[in-house]
Amino acid sequence: MSESRSEISQLGEFGLIDRISKNFTLQNRSSVKGIGDDAAVIDAGDDYLLISTDMLVEGIHFDLAYMPLQHLGYKSVAVNVSDIAAMNGKAEQITVSIALTNRFSVEAIDALYQGIKAACDNYKVDLVGGDTTSSVSGLVISISVTGRVKKDQVVYRSGAKPNDIVCVTGDLGAAFMGLQVLVREKEVYEADPSMQPDLEKFEYLVSRQLKPEARTEIIYDLEERGVKPTSMIDVSDGLASELLHIVKNSGAGIRIFEDKVPIDQLTFETAIEFKLDPITCALNGGEDYELLFTIDQNDYEKLKNHPDIHSIGYMHDKKDQNVMISKQGTVVPLRAQGWNHFTSNPQT
Ligand code: ADP
Ligand code: MG
Repeated sequence: MSESRSEISQLGEFGLIDRISKNFTLQNRSSVKGIGDDAAVIDAGDDYLLISTDMLVEGIHFDLAYMPLQHLGYKSVAVNVSDIAAMNGKAEQITVSIALTNRFSVEAIDALYQGIKAACDNYKVDLVGGDTTSSVSGLVISISVTGRVKKDQVVYRSGAKPNDIVCVTGDLGAAFMGLQVLVREKEVYEADPSMQPDLEKFEYLVSRQLKPEARTEIIYDLEERGVKPTSMIDVSDGLASELLHIVKNSGAGIRIFEDKVPIDQLTFETAIEFKLDPITCALNGGEDYELLFTIDQNDYEKLKNHPDIHSIGYMHDKKDQNVMISKQGTVVPLRAQGWNHFTSNPQT
């Protein structure tokens, strides 16, 4: 008798999550939103409580050859806080769980927690617990975060409607190019350890990879200007992948314009130097941790002169017609090719 075996790579990360979630229905009235958004939403009386969790695994998400532990600590908090911001909420507490091998010294763990502390201070979140255990292969760090949002202010991935304007903060593709630079310098160093890494010129890109920030101040800016996005997500896997999450959850279509996608000059030039297409890096690179959201057209005036919010396109009613208009005016279908840890060629 042969048992059938299916490969996870055939499903992909999102296929696997769909498969897991379809067997679970919510049983408690307090569980307002379960699997499928940046954070779960729990009815906590006056407000909604937000909960999200993210795990970083050595060799998959980071390489300690170029990722200092202090930065790793900071980044692992920032990426969680970013998921709370993506619900239009504010983070309040974190728990931190680590699995370690005896390769790590006490001083190494001190450095990791210095980064965690710096992020806690910066984002005003409290470390309230965690777990510590051993690992046979490398460092694993898993952080859970809680946050809060007023009930009428929560924003899901699912509220975008035709004619809404699509906005993104900051610039895209820099973290991906930072990773390419770090990988190249590591290879140069391994080939000849007398070579010193030449990172100065690429400082912005490397800092976007090693020390990303959650865009919490945007949540305050939106509040101040009286704008509640109709949908929102943070850009962790790449702009294209996140646009398609909004589209899928909202049941609408999207049209963006290549010349509107914000790409920093250094990202652009470095991509060319690496023989990569800058727009591909921005669409598929990932780890930008910018906020991507849609707004009602009536709110456009309120955000128009914000220095760090860029409108890149609009929603329409034709489902499955998700396209980018290139600089030459050609229509390019949007496809998600972001981080997929289960393919044979992961990007990390
Ligand atoms: P993000 O990129 O915002 O962190 P993910 O793509 O990791 O979001 O996850 C999408 C949704 O799937 C979230 O609601 C997350 O909680 C849920 N999820 C991911 N992995 C699992 C799992 N193994 N079991 C249950 N839910 C999961
Ligand atoms: Mg997210």
